[in-house]
Amino acid sequence: MTTPTSPHAALAAHVAGRVHLPGDDGYDTARSGFQAAFAHAPGAVVAAAGPGDVRTAVAHAAEHGLPVAVQATGHGLATPLDGGVLVTTGAMAGVAVDPAARTARVGAGTRWADVVAAAARYGLAPLSGSSPTVGAVGYTLGGGLGLLARTHGYAADHVRALEVVTADARPRRVTAADDPDLFWALRGGPLRLAAVTAMEIGLVPVERVYGGELVFTEHHLDALLPAYLEWAATAPEEVTTSLGLLRYPDIPQLPEEVRGRYLVHLRVTATTDAEQGARLLAPLRALGPVRDTVADLAFADSERIYADPAEPHGYDADNSLLTTLDAGRLRAVLQEAGPSAPLMCVVGLRHLGGALARPAEHGAAVGHRGAAWLLQVLSPVEGPDPAAVRGLHGRALAPVRDAAVGRAPNFLFGDHPADTDRPWSTPGDARRLARVKADRDPDDLFRSAAAWRGAATGG
Ligand SMILES: Cc1cc2nc3c(=O)[nH]c(=O)nc-3n(C[C@H](O)[C@H](O)[C@H](O)COP(=O)(O)OP(=O)(O)OC[C@H]3O[C@@H](n4cnc5c(N)ncnc54)[C@H](O)[C@@H]3O)c2cc1C
Repeated sequence: MTTPTSPHAALAAHVAGRVHLPGDDGYDTARSGFQAAFAHAPGAVVAAAGPGDVRTAVAHAAEHGLPVAVQATGHGLATPLDGGVLVTTGAMAGVAVDPAARTARVGAGTRWADVVAAAARYGLAPLSGSSPTVGAVGYTLGGGLGLLARTHGYAADHVRALEVVTADARPRRVTAADDPDLFWALRGGPLRLAAVTAMEIGLVPVERVYGGELVFTEHHLDALLPAYLEWAATAPEEVTTSLGLLRYPDIPQLPEEVRGRYLVHLRVTATTDAEQGARLLAPLRALGPVRDTVADLAFADSERIYADPAEPHGYDADNSLLTTLDAGRLRAVLQEAGPSAPLMCVVGLRHLGGALARPAEHGAAVGHRGAAWLLQVLSPVEGPDPAAVRGLHGRALAPVRDAAVGRAPNFLFGDHPADTDRPWSTPGDARRLARVKADRDPDDLFRSAAAWRGAATGG
């Protein structure tokens, strides 16, 4: 409903894309995304057609003293807006690959599937993640822990330039040379500092991988957990693996072989040939998986490795970055969130190290590069009050609390409070981030998630 007093009533006349106000047809669709448990409730949605619309939206919000949030796909929605201006970037999608320079220019609304396909035409790959429908920009700003992570590092480390609109509504091209502090803070830092309209990223020469999954059952757990942790300790950085452990719902829509069963998915992406990859995996194959899809695979088909859900749904997750993990502690986690969990839990364990542990060429604000494991506990949620889920996730992560150094922003789902025991990064990085925020967005126009609002300290 557009009232004559709405500060947003005149906005549409200045925007090439669409403006949706509460009560309009299209408002609910425009503010919705992949996270279906809750949504932003802005005073206006600006469905930006290009950088000019982003500038208009930011200038308008600044003039009225209103907060701004940016949404591409809604996979990473954290603290929702209540009022203010939501800029959606879905219409700003597009990829242009420069094969000679091995770079791609990626529009703000682009999903990984399109970048992977465009790069594959030249035998190249981006540092994309498990899901083809996640937004490339949001993922990269959060660090970006992908399929090739241990071989090539975080996606944030491969950014060459960011085209942004800052809180003063000015467009800027941010690079390591021109604006090192903002360039650092935007790549992996948890605070929102600007609206990104496009990014230029480096691509890696990966055309084929040895990838897929080994699937185990509940009965393998006793042998698998220690064997996997021991195997990972000496795995070369050419191989990136993770575990996903869950009980599938007992519903007729699911195929018989998974329905109601507790399964462990060991996902593998190796940048080796099949022969070397098979030698590497031999000790894990010896445990007798019930399904084995690991084979020579075009990176263009890498979405098959995780086969993440593509339909919007509600979900909540917590995570801990761990310096160390042993089978005893992992079993204790599964006592709470494993086969007998009272509600559906997906325990995800990503093996870190390798290139992830090395600093980026120009530095990047990714926290805790020394962590060895990322442990996530995720559950579907039906409504906006995930209290029972939060309690269970807290109990599940308690056994690894002593080894937890922080949390990874990209793997925290839902609107979480801050946790000072699991900070985003070091005190030195927090002070640098506080300086950048105070300098570039002193009025806090770009609202950060509640979990991270205290992440930067000026102390
Ligand atoms: C099924 C699934 C699989 C995933 N797999 C991985 C994975 O393998 N590795 C990994 O690292 N992460 C993974 N993630 C996490 C994902 O990377 C984050 O949730 C990320 O924030 C999603 O970005 P988005 O743009 O798709 O989502 P959105 O919810 O639209 O955006 C997420 C955040 O990014 C900010 N943002 C988005 N676009 C812009 C912009 N143009 N300018 C400024 N800020 C912007 C938003 O403000 C918001 O805070 C996964 C998430 C899901 C749900």
